[in-house]
Amino acid sequence: MRSSPLHPEPPHSEPPHSEPHHPEPPHTEPHHPEPLRLEPRLEPRLRTLLEAGDFLHPLVDALGSPLNVLLPEQLADNLARFRAVYREHHLAGPIHFAHKANRSRALVRRLAATEAGLDVASLAELQHVLGDGITPERVIATGPKNRAFLWLAARTGVAVSLDSTAELDELADLVRKNALPRVRVLPRLSGFRAQGVTVLSRPSRFGTDVGALDGLLDALERHRDAVELTGLAYHLDTVDLNEKAVALEACIQAMNECHRRGFHPRTIDIGGGFGVDYLADGAQWQRYTTELTKSVLGHRDPLTWQGHGYGLRNEAGTLRGTLGLYPAHRPLAAAAYLDALLRHPAPTLGRPLATLLLENLYDLAVEPGRALVDQCGAALARVLEVRRTPDGDTLVRLEMNARDVSLEEHGVLMDPVLVPRPGPPSAREAPAAPDGVHLIGNLCLEADLITRRKVFLPRLPAPGDLLAFANTAGYFMDFSADRALQQPVARKVAVHRQDGAWHWRLDEQYWPIDATAPDGNATAIATAEEQGERQA
Ligand SMILES: *Cc1c(COP(=O)(O)O)cnc(C)c1O
Repeated sequence: MRSSPLHPEPPHSEPPHSEPHHPEPPHTEPHHPEPLRLEPRLEPRLRTLLEAGDFLHPLVDALGSPLNVLLPEQLADNLARFRAVYREHHLAGPIHFAHKANRSRALVRRLAATEAGLDVASLAELQHVLGDGITPERVIATGPKNRAFLWLAARTGVAVSLDSTAELDELADLVRKNALPRVRVLPRLSGFRAQGVTVLSRPSRFGTDVGALDGLLDALERHRDAVELTGLAYHLDTVDLNEKAVALEACIQAMNECHRRGFHPRTIDIGGGFGVDYLADGAQWQRYTTELTKSVLGHRDPLTWQGHGYGLRNEAGTLRGTLGLYPAHRPLAAAAYLDALLRHPAPTLGRPLATLLLENLYDLAVEPGRALVDQCGAALARVLEVRRTPDGDTLVRLEMNARDVSLEEHGVLMDPVLVPRPGPPSAREAPAAPDGVHLIGNLCLEADLITRRKVFLPRLPAPGDLLAFANTAGYFMDFSADRALQQPVARKVAVHRQDGAWHWRLDEQYWPIDATAPDGNATAIATAEEQGERQA
């Protein structure tokens, strides 16, 4: 992008309103530009929860701020949406939740009551899911692994997504030395290239280069006594459908090569990365990014703390850099994204990828993290203080820090929802939102801003109100949370609605026994039956 050499417009350059008969309160401040809102997309269950201030405030009073609230029933619904896409394309295969997206026990236990599998990426995650009711045939171990992780996977009969030939050697050695049962393995591939000159796939620190498949199959042959090749896997962290189509087609071809070499793998595991649409209104996102660009160029008042540009910078009037943000408005996401990928023509073979999978009788495995916990929760924080700085900024100090809701770290820009303290309005007036506020955290650190972005709220919060960071169950609410300064890590509660009222349990006290909606259960049983034949 490149700017025209405009003279920077002075901020607030519009003429003042002249409505002489309107009884405006005395108003000495300059004209406020239109607020730049980035309202979160809320599905009915989460929306209803965030409207229940009478329920949420006592919870935070009792359990402290920050507080993470989870909606396990939503997870079951999201799973059903993914399964519906499989059904539409007549495909079979497991749907694994990528555990790293959230540490909650309630979510794992809710999944245990469905047909879902789990993708675990550490020893502790494996221990967690086995202990909460996920049986080993439903688990796949991915990511970098130490010897203990490999041992427990092999010992219990968990499938292993192999990161490299070295990992294969180590696993086979472990199996032989300890007389363990043969392990199902799905080597992870990477380095996919499109035909022609353009390399579409980004480099990855994980997996074996697809060009080195021959050597990998040689190693698998050597280790036949210790491991069984049941499939191939990849995971690409990209939003680009073309890039994923290149990888999936390459995997289908690699599977065919495995069969030529006398192996009988059946499953292609295409990993996660189906994405989430975070914002309610695409126009708000467009407008925000346009105004951010203007503000980086000095063509409007700043929109961020100390002129932070989210990757953009102003070099002598020219815009440089690239916007380092998640595409928060992403209409094609989650199950719909999987559907689009399956309908996508294979880059060289031409026909839809789902057709190729079907014709070869390959199963499809997926590992959605973020997308399966879409709309599954919110992080709540109490407002402690609202103050004006001498520079004219408004600071809203929260009983939470930037690590408790790592939206900023993950590049997702989304407004919190104001949950006012119930009861009569306090003595203070409730002014409309000013030019925007800065949300600051509870750490004794200059850098502890919940977001570097100025946030425009419908009205100014007051101490005692809650701000709810909606749709934060995927990565934001607990991926980075720690005990810096011995501040508390948020507690988690699982909530569900029954007979017109909200009910809650501490995360670790949740079991999907009596907190499960009857219809959610029916879905789980039906889909488990569908899977029965395949797993038998
Ligand atoms: C992180 C990860 C996932 C999940 O990715 P999402 O973007 O959350 O869907 C799946 N598989 C592997 C191997 C991963 O590392």
